[in-house]
Amino acid sequence: MNKDVSVITRKDATQRRLLAYIWQFRLWICLGLASALCASLVTLSIAKMLQLAVKAVVEGNISVLNWIVPLFLVVVSCNWVFTFGQSYCIAAAAQKVGMRLRNDLYAHMQKQALSFFERYKTGALMARITNDVLYVQNGISAVVDVVDAPFRITGSLIVLTLINPRLTLLSALVLPFIGFFITHVGRKVRTIAERTQSRFADVMGIMEERLSGIRMVKAFGMEAQEIERFYQANAATVREALRGVRRAASLYPTIEIIGSIGVAVVLWVGGYEIAAKRLTADSLLQFVFLLNVVALALKKVGSLNVRRQEVLAGARRVFDILNQEIEIRDAPDAVAPATWSGRVEFQNVSFAYNPDRPVLDDVSFTIEPGQVVALVGPSGAGKSTVANLLPRFYEATSGTIEIDGTDIRQIKQNALREHIGIVPQETILFSGSIRENITYGSAGASEEAIQATARAAHADEFIQDLPEKYDTLVGERATKLSVGQKQRVSIARALLKDPKILILDEATSSLDAESESLVQEALDILMSSRTTLVIAHRLATIRNADLILVLDQGRIVERGTHQELRQLGGLYARLCEMQFEEGDPIPLMALED
Ligand code: ATP
Repeated sequence: MNKDVSVITRKDATQRRLLAYIWQFRLWICLGLASALCASLVTLSIAKMLQLAVKAVVEGNISVLNWIVPLFLVVVSCNWVFTFGQSYCIAAAAQKVGMRLRNDLYAHMQKQALSFFERYKTGALMARITNDVLYVQNGISAVVDVVDAPFRITGSLIVLTLINPRLTLLSALVLPFIGFFITHVGRKVRTIAERTQSRFADVMGIMEERLSGIRMVKAFGMEAQEIERFYQANAATVREALRGVRRAASLYPTIEIIGSIGVAVVLWVGGYEIAAKRLTADSLLQFVFLLNVVALALKKVGSLNVRRQEVLAGARRVFDILNQEIEIRDAPDAVAPATWSGRVEFQNVSFAYNPDRPVLDDVSFTIEPGQVVALVGPSGAGKSTVANLLPRFYEATSGTIEIDGTDIRQIKQNALREHIGIVPQETILFSGSIRENITYGSAGASEEAIQATARAAHADEFIQDLPEKYDTLVGERATKLSVGQKQRVSIARALLKDPKILILDEATSSLDAESESLVQEALDILMSSRTTLVIAHRLATIRNADLILVLDQGRIVERGTHQELRQLGGLYARLCEMQFEEGDPIPLMALED
């Protein structure tokens, strides 16, 4: 019982919210409805003309045809205009509602914290923004076929009553049966539509994940299994969709059968009425014509109800995303400091991705302006997590993080991230030119500035060798560039932004010696005169850091300079030994103090 109530409330809320979207384009809807009303009046007048023409012919009054036929042509032309207006205006409203929903969804997704993207698969989000919105949009467009139905039904029923009230009452007896059937099918279709849309999101999820990871699929020779997995998911969607189609397809013929029974009864009783001189043959013809108009309109109402259920299913999935709270927001009194010196302080910071599993525990440290602090520790110790908290990608569970003495929760996110440069381990470049990638986040940078930063990042030398130089398109995910080249473009991008604070996910481990030394030189330039937090994987590269923090299981277990920590003989010293034993040539040279 309670469940039913909550389902109804949810449905009402979805409907109200969708109507609010449609209301924004009420002008188009009103124009569409006005055109539909005119088109229905025109249809009714066609029925009247038909009756007059037959009457004239039966009575031998042929001259009446001389004005009825031209008038008929004029009326039919008007019908074209009104029907066009009806289709165009409603379709325009549907397109605009779809556009607004897509815009709102995308903007809402862009504002979400990273945890949101861990909850939803990219493919599933894409399904919401494409398929679910399309369901809503197509459903609203379908209204075009039916906006005139109420006018047609009401108008026809009035005229039918005027012709013969008894016959009208008789034919109206079928209406409750039709009404019951339409509602029953609609309910079933809605549940099925929700399941179909959710299955489709699964298909999109698989597709997005496996196509973006195609290298891995190929490397493990998993193409056949991936094809099979996709087939299965796709087939499940189609099976579900066909269940809905079967329900919807039964609607038309059933309404037709019930309607035909009504017409048969009318013809039967109408015949007796003519015999009793209470009805003329031409009026019976007009009666049956109008009855057909009503039947057709009812069929449309039935199919509209099916569409309405599909629209509500799509809309609910769209609003489900729009209802997701934005977890990290600017405080109302947040500031955007004009100048930064770059002092970073973590005070007793703890953090957990999932409440039951703490990842950072009471982490405190300070980085003075211009200093380099390195985070080292075993895999999973929490190094990246510390770095993620500084630009507020995630919110600390307890403790405070300050920049220049201001809690970062009191700094506007845009201002905060504008002054933090990030060079991630896995470089992300977008499809577009190299120039566009370097200027990402620094719109309006001059050509000299772009080239100067590219030179400093040792990127200019390979860019000059490319066919289109800075205009070379790098391709999706920059597959046309080597790993080292991508990293140097990424460093140039960070350099051009000229941030006060730098987060460096030390990224040289996958490079050959030459690329590595180029990238390292570029990084050294990038670090100079900036506060830098380095996540170090290779200890040799951070031996000159002002402070090294050794993390283990989310706690800082050692802190000091390279020399101090080596002498301490703890975890850091062991990590150094391990890299030494693994035969890493750089530590071999660099760690000899
Ligand atoms: P590595 O050197 O391997 O990159 P790390 O020291 O940077 O490791 P983190 O990435 O900070 O470690 O991860 C710390 C812990 O948090 C790990 O146990 C990891 O499984 C967990 N973790 C990391 N990211 C998430 C996430 N988005 N959701 C849930 N748990 C996470």
